Amino acid sequence: MEILRTIADIQAYAKARKQEGKTIGLVPTMGALHEGHLTLMRAARAKCDIVIASVFVNPVQFGPNEDFDAYPRRFEADCQKLETVPVDAVFHPEPSEMYPEGFCTYVNVEGDITHKLCGAQRPGHFRGVATVVTKLMNLARADEAFFGQKDAQQVVVIRRFVADLNLNVHINMVPIVREESGLARSSRNQYLSAEEKDAALILSRSLRKAVTAYESGETDVATLKQIVIASLNTEPLARIDYVELYDFPGLNEVPRVTQASLLAIAVKIGKTRLIDNVILGKEAGEA
Ligand code: AMP
Repeated sequence: MEILRTIADIQAYAKARKQEGKTIGLVPTMGALHEGHLTLMRAARAKCDIVIASVFVNPVQFGPNEDFDAYPRRFEADCQKLETVPVDAVFHPEPSEMYPEGFCTYVNVEGDITHKLCGAQRPGHFRGVATVVTKLMNLARADEAFFGQKDAQQVVVIRRFVADLNLNVHINMVPIVREESGLARSSRNQYLSAEEKDAALILSRSLRKAVTAYESGETDVATLKQIVIASLNTEPLARIDYVELYDFPGLNEVPRVTQASLLAIAVKIGKTRLIDNVILGKEAGEA
């Protein structure tokens, strides 16, 4: 596996692969890799000739009071995991390589899709995501890029700017990978104490309750949300940031679930903010 650290490195690597006529799949990550990330890598492996992973904790998508400094950085362990897929190259730049002095151009997706859900709690987050993903897709000359349903709103935002800016890359969404307990895998799970990790099971359990109700015929959005809220409130360590249900991928408010819809939650367990979601409706599971 090639380790690419500079803009010049990745540009030369991508150019050479393109000259060989290869298709390139890109999997952007912030590292501290787990089975969720590796599932994206395998999806890329299955679809593309060349797989480039990026491991970059992107400073621009973190707010001033968020966990940029504390975010786990485990590059050597990450490389070992990437070799098992295998991935062809990993791009691991310094922040100063991506944002040199004088950098002042951002991709800003305007409109409701960036203002609700995580956008409401994390102003500037999606501007940072859209900017770095645009740079990464461009540097890697990606034909395909792979993202997790875990961050379903991120997929909506990325598909929006890819369409708006006529970028020639196909965006793939891969289902959420969970631990056996149901807990959605996340690099931030490492922040949880044993007690908090138990408490965190309330996220997937609460979503399951809504899925069961939906499968039994309940389509009223207020009722489905209330089922989740009531369940989350049974866990003393859980503090709700949001519980929302929108159509998907539009992210519009709807009174009833009559089409694919995203039931998404953000919950603080202690100091750690966790997100999870399910897609309800006919097209659930479709990428
Ligand atoms: P991150 O390193 O947290 O920025 O995540 C990198 C990519 O992995 C994003 O597209 C995430 O949506 C995806 N991802 C993270 N956790 C999971 C998971 N449990 N299942 C599927 N995809 C995931």
